[in-house]
Amino acid sequence: MNKSAAKEEGLATDKHNEDDRSLDTSSSLLSDASKRLEKALKYVEISSDAIARLRYPKASLSVSIPVRMDDGSLQVFAGYRVRYDDTRGPGKGGVRYHPHVTLDEVESLAFWMTFKCALMNLPFGGAKGGITVNPKELSKPELERLSRGYINEIADFIGPDVDILAPDVYTNSTIMGWMMDRYSTIKRQVCRGVVTGKPLTLGGSQGREAATATGALYVMQTILPKFELLPAQTTVAIQGFGNAGSILAELLFKAGYKIVAVSDSQGGIYAPQGLDIPSVREHKTSSRQIKAVYCQDSVCSIMEHQVISNQELLALDVDVLIPAALENQITADNAADIKAKYIFEVANGPVNSDGDKILQQKGVYVFPDILVNAGGVTVSYFEWVQNRNGWYWELEEVNQRLQVKMETEAEHVWQIAQDLDIDMRTAAYIHGLNRLNAAIDAKGTRDYYVND
Ligand code: NAD
Repeated sequence: MNKSAAKEEGLATDKHNEDDRSLDTSSSLLSDASKRLEKALKYVEISSDAIARLRYPKASLSVSIPVRMDDGSLQVFAGYRVRYDDTRGPGKGGVRYHPHVTLDEVESLAFWMTFKCALMNLPFGGAKGGITVNPKELSKPELERLSRGYINEIADFIGPDVDILAPDVYTNSTIMGWMMDRYSTIKRQVCRGVVTGKPLTLGGSQGREAATATGALYVMQTILPKFELLPAQTTVAIQGFGNAGSILAELLFKAGYKIVAVSDSQGGIYAPQGLDIPSVREHKTSSRQIKAVYCQDSVCSIMEHQVISNQELLALDVDVLIPAALENQITADNAADIKAKYIFEVANGPVNSDGDKILQQKGVYVFPDILVNAGGVTVSYFEWVQNRNGWYWELEEVNQRLQVKMETEAEHVWQIAQDLDIDMRTAAYIHGLNRLNAAIDAKGTRDYYVND
């Protein structure tokens, strides 16, 4: 069924059966994402208005971005921006550069952002953007022209009170700086609040670069003691060694956890005795390769390690597994092989709904993306607040506020899971859904008419 036909059908359902509680969405990733919500809907009283509102993205934009390449040729790239819902505030979400970016993926990510912002009680709706490109094949000037070109095409769709951008996979603070600069030029005024994750010198926030990892650490430190897991006795494997994965690896290492395996898109390394993460990071930065380098007392050497594939990393016999790369890494194909007892989803959507079912049957605790990686958007919110006030906070203040937010919402989700005897993902969706429902309700629902 094509998308418009599915929408037609969905809208027809709206009209003919007001009690239809399904969130049937047509696209594959998005429909997989919405299955999580379906489960949550069984436990909460949600108005049919809220369900109808959350069934489809509020607005989706597809653009073509012409870019003059260094060799003089012109290449045209596909770009997207989706605002899923803005009941609780302007859209908020990152921009991803990846060869596999599709509108479907961007819609799913915008859907997740909607629930993440509600779960964290941030005054934002959910949005996301992306460009179908392999940024590693572009020179820096080409990347800059592409990023500025993207803003040229979507400028009317975004804004500090409409939809706010941020970094995601293969985008960073430099790119956010270019985007903010281009948007400001178009609007003929300095518009810092349209993009978060900017360089500090352009109005970025202290702590934003490390915020996703720092937030994940606070969630882990709230949850793991409930299972009496002490850092020194806890082995950890991390898939993805980028912004989120590598910083979290270092924070966990410093907190005393034993990181035995890490990987990037080229593959991974495994050392049962534990990796010296600061050295691995240093080596990765200087050589763009992952190697188990052991650096102590200024003497660096290659420490004994096994080279493993990403699939092997996922199946390692560790206490904690942290997928911090891309979505759909644990599915029906490999969920049965997972040996970790606890999974903290730092990536967005690394476990799909089929994978989830198998993990649950195996008794694996999965702590969901919309809670675990919410530190990034939380400090993005702090950045937006600072931009609006023109008053900038010290790192300590940022991290203190982040810690309070992460611990408070992690405890809330934990409590819902305990009270209803359900998994943490469903509890997280219930928590977000309750807030979204309250906001949609407060704007006026059919109950106003029914009760008159
Ligand atoms: P990044 O681009 O900095 O790093 C991505 C890492 O994943 C790189 O090390 C890359 O080599 C690795 N990778 C790519 N394909 C892989 C594969 N097939 N197998 C193993 N590793 C692979 O991106 P990031 O910002 O760290 O984001 C990682 C995940 O975290 C994404 O799902 C993103 O949506 C999510 N996330 C990031 C933030 C943030 O603030 N950076 C916030 C919330 C969620």
